[in-house]
Amino acid sequence: MYIIQFLVVITCFIYCLSVKDVLEYDFIVVGIGSGGSIMAARLSEPDNNWSVLALDRGSAMQNGQTNEDDLSGLHDPNYFSIAQDYLLGRLVRNPRYYGIGGTAMINGMTAIAPSRHLLDQLWPTGWKWNDLFPYMIKMQNHYCYYLPSSLTGISDADCQKWHGKDGPIDIAPPLFKRMPEQLLDLMKECDEDIGFMTDYDNPIKQYGCYFQQQFRKPLNKSNPDSATIRASTWEAYLNGMNRSNLQILDSATVLKLVFDENEPTKCIGVIYDYKGQIYTAIARKEVILSAGVFDTPKLLQLFGVGPKQWLEPLGIKVVAENLEVGKNFMDQMAVYMAFETTEQLPPLPWAADTSGWILNSGLKESNMNWTDIQIYCYSRFPGLTLDFPIVGLDPILAYSKPSIPFITFLVFNTIPDASGTVKIQSLSSYDRPQIDHGWQNLSEYDQNNLQHGVNFIRNMTRNTRWGRRYIKQELFPGNRFEGSDDLHRRLNLCSAYHQVGSCALGKCTDNEALVLGIKNVRVCDTSLFPTQLNVNPTYTLYSMCEKVADLIKKQYSRD
Ligand SMILES: Cc1cc2nc3c(=O)[nH]c(=O)nc-3n(C[C@H](O)[C@H](O)[C@H](O)COP(=O)(O)OP(=O)(O)OC[C@H]3O[C@@H](n4cnc5c(N)ncnc54)[C@H](O)[C@@H]3O)c2cc1C
Repeated sequence: MYIIQFLVVITCFIYCLSVKDVLEYDFIVVGIGSGGSIMAARLSEPDNNWSVLALDRGSAMQNGQTNEDDLSGLHDPNYFSIAQDYLLGRLVRNPRYYGIGGTAMINGMTAIAPSRHLLDQLWPTGWKWNDLFPYMIKMQNHYCYYLPSSLTGISDADCQKWHGKDGPIDIAPPLFKRMPEQLLDLMKECDEDIGFMTDYDNPIKQYGCYFQQQFRKPLNKSNPDSATIRASTWEAYLNGMNRSNLQILDSATVLKLVFDENEPTKCIGVIYDYKGQIYTAIARKEVILSAGVFDTPKLLQLFGVGPKQWLEPLGIKVVAENLEVGKNFMDQMAVYMAFETTEQLPPLPWAADTSGWILNSGLKESNMNWTDIQIYCYSRFPGLTLDFPIVGLDPILAYSKPSIPFITFLVFNTIPDASGTVKIQSLSSYDRPQIDHGWQNLSEYDQNNLQHGVNFIRNMTRNTRWGRRYIKQELFPGNRFEGSDDLHRRLNLCSAYHQVGSCALGKCTDNEALVLGIKNVRVCDTSLFPTQLNVNPTYTLYSMCEKVADLIKKQYSRD
């Protein structure tokens, strides 16, 4: 214990000796990722002329580098969970992109609105559907405004009611004309059964199957099959912006929050390492934490804000005991299946070929009003299965000669019972936190939900007109794992990469996203989600950060 305290004192001493200039800003944004890019852009808008410093620990894209990076690239901090019992001791892999733009630089870009009922029933006051919906509209520029409704299937009235036109981030249509016949047939059959959704952002019907729309920017908006580029929030909100009141630094890792000597819970700035030199920046108004679901709680804990029983054993002085920092961590879970087809689906750009289903398992009373299963369909395997770096290339499918034509499905349990923790494990800001998904013993519901999805796929591939025409046999899991779906789950279950909740709204923060127990620190990234969603998180995250930025503007125009 004394050794740890000694090290803390020495580290602080070294900071003090090497600290360079001290600069002042109105706001400091920590992390220029998916949420942080919106915060930096909105807070530096000319209306207030606030000065903003935005810091990201990763580097910026180099010229010529594409942002269709692979998942294990240089920017991935390699965050793994601790061993999970249900997975027979396997670790869960949690890829992130540490660099300007954050994880939206490598994600699947699926843009999908959350269930209206879920927000209305589970989210805190001020964050119900009607509260968030204006910000869903504000952030987007939707294709229904420039493509004919005969093509999109979205009427002009619905387009105007449910979609935004003037927002910074583009939502591009599915590649209508490039969809292979097999998937068009699949959606046709699904339509006769559970119903095809041309517009799953329309809260009147958020159930059925769909072709995926994405956060992508079409290069030619009058051409429905135009090439598109990734629309991360960095690209959409910040890239190329030249504001004298906004300073953006990459390779700048925040090491510490600085608290007022006379008022120990009042945050007044940050200490950061910029390319090897240590600097202090003062925030006249607030520090915004947008470091992501793992680093936001880790940084708070490192600065002494969190559960005492986690901090004291590491010798961290408790600034404020906030029991919720690092709790409530939730991830969606996924298993995959592969089937031999009668003919190979043509390869399409990653994720552009995805069709999906959002379904209700009917297994849980409290989930009846929203979907709790999501299924993706891919034309490629195994490169597109979520965890192939862990599961490994499937030798039979990857290297078979002649190659086997196949189709892959991913089944997500979107609102699992399981939840876990993100917990600091060392005194270094550069170090990884300890991540526990809480997948030790999966509840009956969590297992049955996944089984329901697997059964749904089996039924579709065996017993429908589409299945009889296109599917030859189930390859994976097929008769592997002695035919046991339980063993298949245990050996293959992986993260759906939709981790949220480790500094949850209304628990870790107040309803305006201000961290409880301290002053002047607000959060906007996926750690802020109060519950898991029935769908992918970024559509909701972007609208949340738009709202948090507005709350800040309102607060300081009042003051
Ligand atoms: C492979 C993959 C596919 C996905 N597909 C989809 C999808 O199709 N649709 C969807 O909605 N969601 C998808 N997601 C999830 C979604 O991308 C993430 O939930 C979201 O991008 C997270 O945003 P964030 O702002 O919380 O964190 P991030 O975007 O990760 O931003 C955090 C930033 O903080 C920086 N940072 C961390 N620590 C520090 C520090 N100490 N100092 C300074 N900076 C720091 C990091 O460098 C990073 O840039 C996917 C995720 C993955 C991994």
